[in-house]
Amino acid sequence: MAEKKQQSSAPAKDDNKITTRAANYSEWYQDIVYRAGLAENSDVRGCMVIKPNGYAIWENMQKALDGLFKATGHVNAYFPLFIPKSFFSKEEQMAEGFAKECAVVTHYRLKSIPGQGVVVDPEAKLEEELIVRPTSETIIWNTYRNWIQSYRDLPLLINQWCNVVRWEMRTRLFLRTAEFLWQEGHTAHATQQEAEAETLQMVRVYQKFAEEWMAMPVIVGPKSEGQKFPGAIYTLCIEAMMQDGKALQAGTSHFLGQNFAKAFDVTFQNTEGKREHAWATSWGVSTRMIGGLIMTHSDDNGLVIPPRLAPTHVLICPMGRTDEERAPAIAAAEKLAAELRALPREDFFGFQPISVKLDLDFKNSPGFRFAEGELKGIPVRVELGPKDLEKQACVVARRDIPGKEGKTMGVPLTEAASRISNLLREIQANLYNRAKTFRDANIRSADSYEQFKEMIEQPGFIWAHWDGTRETEDKISEETKATIRCIPFDRPLEEGTCMVTGNPSQGRVLFARSY
Ligand code: AMP
Repeated sequence: MAEKKQQSSAPAKDDNKITTRAANYSEWYQDIVYRAGLAENSDVRGCMVIKPNGYAIWENMQKALDGLFKATGHVNAYFPLFIPKSFFSKEEQMAEGFAKECAVVTHYRLKSIPGQGVVVDPEAKLEEELIVRPTSETIIWNTYRNWIQSYRDLPLLINQWCNVVRWEMRTRLFLRTAEFLWQEGHTAHATQQEAEAETLQMVRVYQKFAEEWMAMPVIVGPKSEGQKFPGAIYTLCIEAMMQDGKALQAGTSHFLGQNFAKAFDVTFQNTEGKREHAWATSWGVSTRMIGGLIMTHSDDNGLVIPPRLAPTHVLICPMGRTDEERAPAIAAAEKLAAELRALPREDFFGFQPISVKLDLDFKNSPGFRFAEGELKGIPVRVELGPKDLEKQACVVARRDIPGKEGKTMGVPLTEAASRISNLLREIQANLYNRAKTFRDANIRSADSYEQFKEMIEQPGFIWAHWDGTRETEDKISEETKATIRCIPFDRPLEEGTCMVTGNPSQGRVLFARSY
């Protein structure tokens, strides 16, 4: 699986500056990922190393999502990494959809040959090849055949946290990798109506997570036929706009009908004693969400993390030139840290108390220490210098508003903990509102294909009329590299004519170039 290094494991330039978004957006993104210590490329093509700062964000995402899944009645389980090829080919659409990006295990042993090192043992060929899961519908529905006998066994509401492999050719840290971490929900139901309600419920759960935790506004609705998941009857999705105006598919929820129940012969006895095939859904979000988080909020100084997902909420920097000056600053910092940590575990943070980091790195200048906190995206910084202490006060700086504007001087130490706690909420709301204002300002309407082709060269999403056919969708995508991101649930109902064919259209859909 190891191919020789194709990507360097660090950015080429050696200065410590982050490229600005205006200068080169994709370099800016890569700089943030490296310099904030989130992830790096590995020697295995397309596979990343998630570093502690990145993994801490993923852990918080997992906790929040897992809470939302459990609150809607789901439980976790685990299924094998390997899928026998025969299972994989049982649902044709899916097999065809994933065929081009599957890793296949053909042998189970190596042998050591003197002078040659280790080679694959040709005698250890597997009787049946194993596919490294790109998604687990097949192995899970093969298992469900034994679990589902009667209507009493339904609904079955299961989620799995795991890694999957899709042999992607063009990869980018977090956004598209060959191996990624995700969760995949796989549910079985007695009726079509129940399965469709579940599909909708889970895309709404993703919307809630994206908007209330990630502070990332999303547009919700079905994908077009051309963009749906292979094997699904339809796919619902959440789509977000990144700061360069491109779209990111941030999560999907599929209504699978009875396709997998039929392929794997999963039937149950209904209340009238008759056998029926079960109805299925599946839904997933991945470490791509971390890429979405970065591209929604971060700025030219570094990462910006919304407080509800931030591994560290508050950085306290005591300052002073001498030990005499430092000692009272450290004592005040420790007292404030203790007060913050003792604040009640509010609903707002759900799973964690306020997390505080004391920066006692006096070797570096205050400016350097502040910049480090900004680079890492810590939402609030407290500066405690000798002059502030004379007044029993501190300086509070918010990460979402850089520079002087985001600084409050002379905050009395007695009030600091409660003011910071309120400020964290304010930052969360501000990040969401700012992202929503940006997104809404970058959605335009095109009334002709000519206008569309001009507009698509600018950042943003475009509302346009389309005749609903796959041919037109493919033509637009070939000619402009824009795809239909989704057919939003809350699109304006407005009849018109397709910008390409002039055929009737029942309403505008959202187009964009995407990651
Ligand atoms: P899917 O099973 O194709 O519907 O994908 C489920 C979710 O996984 C999508 O909404 C994406 O956010 C994410 N995803 C798909 N492919 C990748 C990839 N190569 N790297 C990271 N995330 C991915």
